[in-house]
Amino acid sequence: MYYADPADEGEPSSGFFNFVAILFLSILLFSCHRPAAKEITANFTSEPDTVKVQVAKPQPTAPPKPVKKKKKIYLTFDDGPNKGTRNVLDIVQQENIPVTFFIVGEHVFASIGQTQVWDSLKMAANIELCNHSFTHAHNRYSKFYKDPETVVKDMEKTNESLLPENNIVRARGRNSWRIDSLHFTDIEKSKKAMDSLQKAGFVVFGWDLEWHYDPKTLALKNTADELLNQIDSVFNNDKTKTRDNMVLLAHDQVYQKIADSLQLREFIQKLKKKDEYELALASSYPGILK
Ligand SMILES: [Zn+2]
Repeated sequence: MYYADPADEGEPSSGFFNFVAILFLSILLFSCHRPAAKEITANFTSEPDTVKVQVAKPQPTAPPKPVKKKKKIYLTFDDGPNKGTRNVLDIVQQENIPVTFFIVGEHVFASIGQTQVWDSLKMAANIELCNHSFTHAHNRYSKFYKDPETVVKDMEKTNESLLPENNIVRARGRNSWRIDSLHFTDIEKSKKAMDSLQKAGFVVFGWDLEWHYDPKTLALKNTADELLNQIDSVFNNDKTKTRDNMVLLAHDQVYQKIADSLQLREFIQKLKKKDEYELALASSYPGILK
């Protein structure tokens, strides 16, 4: 059986005192450890800690260089097909450059070999074939140019029989131009003939610089390096018919000999390394409509 301890009942004041003391201590401890209301509020409303990430400062970059427009060179060969044409064709195809040949119609039918070269020219990529007359005036220019009608008919003969899709012509022995607004006549006596060619629908294409040769020996008068210097000089002095466009005239027959063929190859290889120039076909000359 359990009996209540009389002492417990006899000393109620002592138990109460203990209870109050414990309560007081608890409140004291609690209040000591509890953060202040102000502090709590501050914690909730304060900004979250900023995470500092080290970002590399952008370095100032040089402004992009303007793309410089290249000067165009139109490499043209006159008077083929002849004994030099095969060499010229092989070299320009191996060097993979665009080249324009101005053809003399009569030369296509002069020998089996030349007809075969003509076939090769037609098959070749990156090659443009233009009209340099049918008879080449049989090299009697003064008499020939007196009759504009004959000049037009001679050009039409090559046009109809060999080059029906191309109306770009070069007058034999004359550096005259009839392209859109570009009109130039080198020898006044042939002016009427040039006008007649234009009236008949032809574009007359002259040249700015010629790679000269000795007509007796057919040897080149200038080396590849000398020609490259001439090209730089003509461009620098703005001496071309159309700014930054240069038509270069060469003749097939010169390159039948090894020494001259080597000069042609050297010229092309060095020209290709010059970043300021690019080669183009005659039909892309300014003002020529395809
Ligand atoms: Zn010619």
